[in-house]
Amino acid sequence: MKQALNEVAAPADADARRRIAPVICYPVDTLPRPDLAAYQAARDGWQKVDEVVVPPRDARSFHVPAGCFFRIVSIEGPQVGDLNLWAADDLDERFFSGKTRALHGTHLSTGDQLWSCLPYLRPMATITHDTLDWYGFDEYGGSVHDVIGTRCDPYTHKLLSGHEYHHCCHSNLTRALAGGAGLPKEIAELAVHDVLNVFMCTGFTRDTGQYFMKASPVRPGDFLEFFAEIDLLGGLSACPGGDCSAEHSSDVAACHPLLVEIYRPEAPPRGWTSPPRNGYSRRHGD
Ligand SMILES: [Zn+2]
Repeated sequence: MKQALNEVAAPADADARRRIAPVICYPVDTLPRPDLAAYQAARDGWQKVDEVVVPPRDARSFHVPAGCFFRIVSIEGPQVGDLNLWAADDLDERFFSGKTRALHGTHLSTGDQLWSCLPYLRPMATITHDTLDWYGFDEYGGSVHDVIGTRCDPYTHKLLSGHEYHHCCHSNLTRALAGGAGLPKEIAELAVHDVLNVFMCTGFTRDTGQYFMKASPVRPGDFLEFFAEIDLLGGLSACPGGDCSAEHSSDVAACHPLLVEIYRPEAPPRGWTSPPRNGYSRRHGD
């Protein structure tokens, strides 16, 4: 949102400067791509080995071994989920929403990967199926499964409203990680990070560039499916915003549970190996 304190005159060549065509910051032609056909084939004969129900306005953690799949499923009613991922053996390696956005765009779907933070930067998970892939971008520039939001949190809420609310996704994920990793909440909170907003429909307003949300198109039975590239600890919060059509950070919205299902294939996808930690780079050029 631009709010100039005093009027700034445009230079004579302002239009010419604006007309310069953009270039993609991170062309992905050289990005190592997952073999989606091999992942698809690995689903034949898979077994569901675990499931976790995430209650409304709360979060749960779950483990997914490398080489297994997991699904986040809408049940009972439209509901947005805030997803965190950590390397199961080292919570310092966690999902890097910002670089994932730089590589794959503002909203993710089938074939996109969830990358870990620096200095690791390896794919943690690959999206292998998205029943909302049909949505695309709507007339407002909105789409689903964004990596542009952060997660609703009690601090921003207090800043804007003056009120306390502790079933925000940040708080829910903190409690879920504390329970799942056996950590004090003060330590777990530091490992909670910017999320993949599963099923949430968001964008930026064209006039002011503000982050907007609108009612999620998700319906019971829809799911987003991932392949775990490494051993994962996941955290999923069923956002207090429900379908995020009106408000979050309150008990006002209708909220529904979400289901996490974990599937083990009979054999790993053909040709697949788990990416090694620091496989793409070394620290500080050592
Ligand atoms: Zn939330």
